[in-house]
Amino acid sequence: MKINKRECRKFADPGISMNRNHGLLHAAEVKYIVRTAVKNIGGKRLLVLYIYSREQAAEGIFQPVWTMFQSRTEHITLSYREDGSTRWSKASFCNLERDYDFSRHCAFYTVRDEERVIRFCRQGKCRGFTSLYHLQSDIREKKQRELKQKKEEKILVRMKPVPALPRNIRKIIDREIMPHYLFYTYNRKRKDMEGFCSACNTEVKVTDARHNQKGLCPVCKAKVIFKSRGKRGNICDRETLQVIQRISENEIIVRFLKIHYQFGEERHPYKSVYENARTFLCWNEEGKTSEERFYYSYGGRDSLTPWKPGTRPVFNQWRYNFEADQAGFLYEKNLDQVLKGSPWQYSQLKEFYLADREPLYVISYLAKYERYPMLEYLVRLRLWRLAEDVVFGSHYYGSSDSAFNPNGKNLKEVLGLDKSYVPLLQRVNPGLGQMKLIKSLLHAKVELNEGLLRWCGDCGISRTENVLVPLKHMTPHKMMRYVNEQYAKLRRKNPYQSSGYYKVEDVLTDYRDYLCMSEGLELDLKNSFVLFPTDLKKAHDKVNDISDKEQALVYDRQIQKQFEELNEQYHFVKYGFAVLLPHTAKEILEEGQNLHHCVGSYVKKVVKRESTILFVRKAGEQDKSLCTVEIHNGELVQARCYKNEPPSPAIRKFLDIWKKKVLHAPELTVAA
Ligand SMILES: [Zn+2]
Repeated sequence: MKINKRECRKFADPGISMNRNHGLLHAAEVKYIVRTAVKNIGGKRLLVLYIYSREQAAEGIFQPVWTMFQSRTEHITLSYREDGSTRWSKASFCNLERDYDFSRHCAFYTVRDEERVIRFCRQGKCRGFTSLYHLQSDIREKKQRELKQKKEEKILVRMKPVPALPRNIRKIIDREIMPHYLFYTYNRKRKDMEGFCSACNTEVKVTDARHNQKGLCPVCKAKVIFKSRGKRGNICDRETLQVIQRISENEIIVRFLKIHYQFGEERHPYKSVYENARTFLCWNEEGKTSEERFYYSYGGRDSLTPWKPGTRPVFNQWRYNFEADQAGFLYEKNLDQVLKGSPWQYSQLKEFYLADREPLYVISYLAKYERYPMLEYLVRLRLWRLAEDVVFGSHYYGSSDSAFNPNGKNLKEVLGLDKSYVPLLQRVNPGLGQMKLIKSLLHAKVELNEGLLRWCGDCGISRTENVLVPLKHMTPHKMMRYVNEQYAKLRRKNPYQSSGYYKVEDVLTDYRDYLCMSEGLELDLKNSFVLFPTDLKKAHDKVNDISDKEQALVYDRQIQKQFEELNEQYHFVKYGFAVLLPHTAKEILEEGQNLHHCVGSYVKKVVKRESTILFVRKAGEQDKSLCTVEIHNGELVQARCYKNEPPSPAIRKFLDIWKKKVLHAPELTVAA
């Protein structure tokens, strides 16, 4: 039963006065004087504390500042404001005022006032204020305990429907998830060495084994890693396995198992499997999903459940934490059944995982599928790299991205390519970068070479200009051979090396730069010594190390060349506007001066074919600057007018049409 506030009000001010000669009223160190009473209020025995301001009392004003009503299980305080209004509060005695030493500035009016408190609070031999403090903190702690218990009981109820793990899970972990070893004693003289296989737990004879080499156990045929006993050291493996289970009509759970295997002793390895996190995913009738996470807490022995809501706290966000990492392998054997009738029934999660059995974060896949249902088609078509880029890429899919539209309703809308391209795409397995490349090649009317596309996919090459420039001078086959050779030779072998290439794409970037400069320098690119320099890095640096005068000449020639090559492709007239390419570097500089923007600084990028600069002008005044456009990697990336202003609606309308008809013109059907 709660303290009855209305009844309490009747006892709030006892209307007593104090003896003005009482020494306490004149003790400057005392701020408040406390008088007490024990009363039966609303059927409850309550301790009442009347707290007066000493200064007011000294002036003859005997109205309490606070009246506190204390029962054995709770307390409540009526405070009086200066304007005469009152307010109830639940603050404990020591928090009535913002004074960490509050009770020290209070004094009981008489000894009997204090004794009443001591008797009521029953806290041993404590002083009055101390025993009140103890009683109130006991009550608070008890309440907190009850609250915690309530929360934990809720979690217990939440965990109740979680079924047992699949019965064969340990076997699966052993057979399919964790690596196995074939330990052998190296013997130079003997062909068949003594060995032991951890997969089948038997002695085997080993021939031709090399330390850390992968192979098969000659007895059980399991995949093993050979380990020479002399070199092996301690072997510890740890992995994560995700198990999905159905909880109810509209709920599944993803459970995260942590696995540790340690081969201290070959025959008796230490094996431990435990569950350390759970995420519930449920959906409503409209198919809208929500998630609820829990993690296993190793501390807290006085709790009803080890499961805590939320994500596992980590000390350092930037350091790898195995316990908190939720990416891992997937138990896929029950998926068809578990996902049936769920929003993910057609998500192809199983097929996606089985394609390479690489660790993944299942929930991220499920979330991406909800946003981009076309994942289903990509996986069904075995376009793995595209699917992977959609699931794990941090790409922002804007509407301007012509290479790929994840919101498309059918394959043609998604890929922007005709069905007839599908067999080629399946063989090439492009990522998002290569999709873009394929389209740019089609725009540039370059015949799609399957070997080239596959190479681009495998090496992650995505910059169109890097492929287009060399292809002007050679066949795809020769380009790949040369770039592969240079990469093998000039690859950066360790991070301490000061120069060298990290990626194949870097080689291509330098090669494109070299070829553009060589064109401008009018070097004889028919000569294979010029076309395929022995050391690309050196040759590249050499053509770039030229005098300013020479450079100006090279730049102009190169831009002129581009005009001849590309103007026909980009030129377009409509609605009284025209698009044209610059003839010289000077024209680009002048455009920048006329329009007061920075296009002048793009000359180098244009020369190296990283960007294409186009002028939009009035069809009737084609030598008057109006709007400048940059094309990068097949996309219109910016359009700027006078003082960097965006283009007017009329120009924008014109550019939209130009984009549709010229820049992203529909692809021709492939004849593959
Ligand atoms: Zn074996």
